[in-house]
Amino acid sequence: MRIVFLGPPGAGKGTQAGRLVAYLQCPHISTGEMLRQIVQQQTDLGKDIERYLKAGRLVPNEMVIKLLTRRLEEDDCRNGYLLDGFPRTAQQAEHLEVYLQEQGTQLDGVLELCATKEELIQRLLARAGAQGRADDRLEVIRTRLEQYEAETHPLVEFYAKRNLHFPIQAMGHVDDVFAEIVNVLEYISRKRERDRGA
Ligand code: AMP
Repeated sequence: MRIVFLGPPGAGKGTQAGRLVAYLQCPHISTGEMLRQIVQQQTDLGKDIERYLKAGRLVPNEMVIKLLTRRLEEDDCRNGYLLDGFPRTAQQAEHLEVYLQEQGTQLDGVLELCATKEELIQRLLARAGAQGRADDRLEVIRTRLEQYEAETHPLVEFYAKRNLHFPIQAMGHVDDVFAEIVNVLEYISRKRERDRGA
């Protein structure tokens, strides 16, 4: 299955993605994680990327698209993957759509993890304490949430038009959220079987 996790920072994408890839037995592709690894290498590119991450701003499309496309070409992605944090802009979503069309395939579903702004801020501040991520400070959190609203949230409409959008209430206990995700995936899978048979 080719699944995208959409949702604001703090909605629990990383936590749920970890569980989901174990369930689906597919690679977890997190562009945020890939970017943080490049930053750690302290190359010129890494230093460049670090500036965006620290400010809570999106890394330029061309850079992320190149990184992601290269990753999707690896062998383990042949039968499916979970994309976590990509696409985040209309340009990235359009690129992904064309890329998949060229491969003769498409996404199976885009799961939007939904939570209120207050809950998101609380969660991100708690994570800052636990993981010490440089972009989990209050002012950076606000910038990241604003970027999400402006650049990423419009993708809900983009995918809804393609009948790929599935909202998930992400405010509850992690187990309950995961159960809802599995329900949605089972629905997608049944639908796929029906479409194949039609
Ligand atoms: P995440 O771990 O998904 O919260 O991503 C952390 C940071 O990496 C984001 O705040 C952005 O600065 C950057 N980033 C991750 N994915 C993307 C993307 N698809 N496009 C642009 N920037 C990204």
